[in-house]
Amino acid sequence: MTTEAIALRRLIDSSSSILITTHINPDGDAAGSSLALYHILCKMGKNVLFISPNEIPPSLHFLPGVDEYVPFNQNPDTLAERLQNTDLLFCLDYNTLSRTGDAMAELLRTFAGKKVLIDHHQQPDTDYAISFSDTSYCSTCELLFQVLSEAYPDLKWLTPDVATCLYTGILTDSGSFRFNTVQPRTHRAVATLLEAGAPHTAIHEAIFDQNRPERFRLMAVMLSHMTYLSHSVVYSWITEKEFLQSGADKEDSEGFVNMGLSIRGVKVSALFREEEGKVRISFRSKGEVDVNQYARTYFNGGGHRNAAGGTWYGTIQEAVKRFEETIFEVVPS
Ligand code: 5GP
Ligand code: MN
Repeated sequence: MTTEAIALRRLIDSSSSILITTHINPDGDAAGSSLALYHILCKMGKNVLFISPNEIPPSLHFLPGVDEYVPFNQNPDTLAERLQNTDLLFCLDYNTLSRTGDAMAELLRTFAGKKVLIDHHQQPDTDYAISFSDTSYCSTCELLFQVLSEAYPDLKWLTPDVATCLYTGILTDSGSFRFNTVQPRTHRAVATLLEAGAPHTAIHEAIFDQNRPERFRLMAVMLSHMTYLSHSVVYSWITEKEFLQSGADKEDSEGFVNMGLSIRGVKVSALFREEEGKVRISFRSKGEVDVNQYARTYFNGGGHRNAAGGTWYGTIQEAVKRFEETIFEVVPS
C-alpha cells in the first residue's frame, strides 16, 4: 500500500462525520464518484453527507443513492451548519474551490479541518491533508477506484451500487472509452466493476438513449450557425433567445461541441452559448492542440488539454472575435 493510501485509511478511520462535495453542474464523473464514496462511507457506519453545488441532472437520476444528496443552491444553510461538525471534507472531481460556485466556495474556504482531494484536473489547489491529483486518469471515478483498491484491497466495499456509480463516471468522462486518457488499467478497472455487478447495458441506455425532442430543435440551430475559420477550426453559437425558443435546457446541448470535432480535418471546435449576460464557451481539440492553456489565457477558463471551457464577460460577437484573433496561436492554420 502506498503511504497516501495508508494515510487516507487512517484519516477515514479517525473521522466520524464526513462531508463529500463536487463541482457545480455535476456530470457523470462528479455525481458518480461522490455517490460511490457516499455508499462506501455509509456502509462503514460513518455519518456522511454529500452536498453538491446544484442539482444532479435528470439524466443521472438512475444513479443509486441520488435521492440522498443535498443541492446547496436549494439548501444553503445545510452546508454552513454541517461544516461546524465535519471531521473530514472530500473534494471530488474539481481542482479549485471556485469550481463549486461563488457562494459554496466562500463557505468551504472557512473550513479549517482536514480536506482530501481526489481529482484529475490540472493545477489543483495545494492546501489538502492528502491530495490524489493525477491528470493521467480519464476520470475521478477511475482514480477513486484505484485509491480505494489500495486503501481497502479486500474490495468488500465494491457493491453493485458502487460499481454502477464508478462505471458511469468512467464511461462518461472517457467519451465511452475513446479518449487517449484511457489506458489498459482503465479496462482492468472496468472489468472488476462488471464482475461486481455494474449493469453496463442499462447504464448506457440510461445515459445515451434519453434524448428529448427539444435537443434536436436546438441542435438544428447550432448546426445552422456552424462556421469554418479554416479547414481545421470550426465554431458555432447559440443565443439565449434561441435557447429559450427551442424549449431546451442546459443538458440538451451536452456534446454539441464534439459534433464539430467529428468533421474530417477539424482540430478545434468551439461552442459559444449566451447565458445570463455572459458567454460560456466549450472548447474541444484533437492531438497536441492544447485548449486548456488557450482557455486559461483568453477565456478565464481551463480544463484538460483536449476539453476545456471558459467564460467571456461580454457579447457573443466579442467572444467570437477574440476567438478568431487568437485561436491560430495554438492551432496551425
Ligand atoms: P465543458 O466544455 O464540458 O463545460 O468543459 C470541459 C472541461 O473543461 C471539463 O472538464 C470542465 O471541468 C472544464 N471546465 C469547463 N469550464 C471551466 C472553467 O471555467 N474553468 C476551469 N478551470 N475548467 C473548466
Ligand atoms: Mn471528471
